Amino acid sequence: MPPFHKHTHRKRDGRELLLYSWAPLEDPPLPEPEEAPAPSSHLRYHPLRRAWAVYTPHRQGRTFLPPEEHCPLCPSRPGGFPTEIPFPRFQVAVFQNRFPAFVETPPAPPSLPVPTAPAWGRCEVVVYTPRHTGSLATLSQEERLLLLWALRDRYQVLYALEGVRFVMPFENRGEAIGVTLHHPHGQIYAYPFVPPLLEREAEAFRERPVLLELLPHLGPYSVDREGGFLAFVPPFAHFPYEVWVVPEAFHPGLWTLSEGEMEALARLLGRTVARLDALFGEPMPYVMLFHAAPKGEEAHFHFHVEFLPVLRDKGRRKYLAGTELGAGAFTVDVLPEEAARRLREV
Ligand SMILES: [Zn+2]
Ligand SMILES: [Zn+2]
Repeated sequence: MPPFHKHTHRKRDGRELLLYSWAPLEDPPLPEPEEAPAPSSHLRYHPLRRAWAVYTPHRQGRTFLPPEEHCPLCPSRPGGFPTEIPFPRFQVAVFQNRFPAFVETPPAPPSLPVPTAPAWGRCEVVVYTPRHTGSLATLSQEERLLLLWALRDRYQVLYALEGVRFVMPFENRGEAIGVTLHHPHGQIYAYPFVPPLLEREAEAFRERPVLLELLPHLGPYSVDREGGFLAFVPPFAHFPYEVWVVPEAFHPGLWTLSEGEMEALARLLGRTVARLDALFGEPMPYVMLFHAAPKGEEAHFHFHVEFLPVLRDKGRRKYLAGTELGAGAFTVDVLPEEAARRLREV
């Protein structure tokens, strides 16, 4: 039995909203906003890069940095602005994205000189807390743990969908990353294909247990440790101050962790964000990725969480430019062992 409660609500426009909580929530729903625009995504294949991309013209109209009183991720209040969550109270909320890249009933793709496909899949928004400000570092341990249980539930539900090949929870944090809403939240994409970076990681894990082989040698790269998890700067980091959080024993995903390991991971993720924020004395803009096994790769793929921060110094961001965008070869200004030392000492 999972230790949390899950309440399912069907929104007026047909989208699903899930409320996760430690104790049952029984409030009746409040009025909801207008109908969502019809999604019009499709996939196109890049014949040279050999990768699918999603084309989503409808996403241009999405909500951009609204003032706090019009935040769509705050709880709704009786008589107030109707938010995405028509309940006065919640702890963690997950709902289908109003501006999704992937949908369960995509339109037929256009016929083009390159292969196209329906953008079938699912995109969800994960609201970490009812409070408008905060981060993984400032949530309470109880809130972070509930968030991880909600993600674990999403993995199980989404991987059970026939056409889903890969599920990725992620967080874009900070305006430098292009965040359009400040309320602490992440997203989940359930892809109908294994994206290229994951295909490569899965291929590497099929050949060797890369992370298990690396773990005994990470002393100078380690940043923090908690209950069977290690936070470290990979010796091969592509971003200055990149941090990975990895279980020291093999796990393909959140879904195989014990309750104690879930708690340890929740604590270590919080401390890792606190360290990144302390580094330059400002909230670190980053992309956080959960890399669990794509479907069919559960025997070899070692679960890990990657933080890719974009600052290389206070107020100075790392841009992906000529060699990174044009050749896929990164230049890195900070040695990973030096980054690890600084993150250990903050
Ligand atoms: Zn808000
Ligand atoms: Zn990865």
